[in-house]
Amino acid sequence: MSAGHGFDLVDVHVHFMPSRVLEKVWAYFDAATEHYGVEWPIQYRTPEAERLAALRSFGVAAFAPLVYPHKPGMAEWLTSWVLDFAARTPGAVPTATVYPEAGVAGYLSDALSRGARCVKAHVQVGAYDPRDDLLDPAWGLLAEAGVPAVVHCGDGPIPGKHTGLGVFEEVLKRHPRLVAVLAHAGMPDYVEALDLVRRYEGVHLDTTMVGVPFSETRSPLPSDWASRLVDVADRVVLGSDFPNIPYEYGVQIAAIESWAAADERLGDPFLRAVLHDNPSRLLGL
Ligand SMILES: [Zn+2]
Repeated sequence: MSAGHGFDLVDVHVHFMPSRVLEKVWAYFDAATEHYGVEWPIQYRTPEAERLAALRSFGVAAFAPLVYPHKPGMAEWLTSWVLDFAARTPGAVPTATVYPEAGVAGYLSDALSRGARCVKAHVQVGAYDPRDDLLDPAWGLLAEAGVPAVVHCGDGPIPGKHTGLGVFEEVLKRHPRLVAVLAHAGMPDYVEALDLVRRYEGVHLDTTMVGVPFSETRSPLPSDWASRLVDVADRVVLGSDFPNIPYEYGVQIAAIESWAAADERLGDPFLRAVLHDNPSRLLGL
């Protein structure tokens, strides 16, 4: 990939987890027909070292390994695991995760002082309300530090108890400078997500699973998607969901290339911005 473009890729949305947790995530995807109504064969179900080598082979020079809890009492040790992982793994940016619970401000500020430069908030899997009072100090810390939060708050692939961009906008109203990366570009509400980008200076979109054939059958992009990106090209960043994707990594890159080619105002500068410059800036590289 890097050979083709002449620059390295920087991916803000990759998952590495303790192996027992990852096995549970994979088991969930094995039952995807039951959960999502569609088969989801994990493409990169390999040992950790092979997954890291695969990323390097795609031209990914830096990435944010994201962890997320589905219940209280998990976020702190997941954060500590992922900080250790990043410390021993070339290219991995230190990250953290949060959950609405009493200790969140404490373990998040510890993580920030240990160098965390990106945070994952998974509203769908965590099934929590992002407006929860317990989480408010965490959003405040992140807004103040300018550290990006990759937030899965959209209704895709299936709605959660507290998903919906309208719900998350209430967090943005309280913390208008929060650097929030809407995971999956807010799938399936892409147009509403673009609207949040225009109205809040810190809101970005990640490309995770967006525009790939797997997603287009269920949550298609608007036909004028490429032209809608022209004035927000500095706020779209590469994300992939590697390794938990049911297709090859290059399929995501091809989707982004097709947007770049679809509007002459995008082209190569857009490609470089999305695949390298914007995510590098966000992750403080
Ligand atoms: Zn993800």
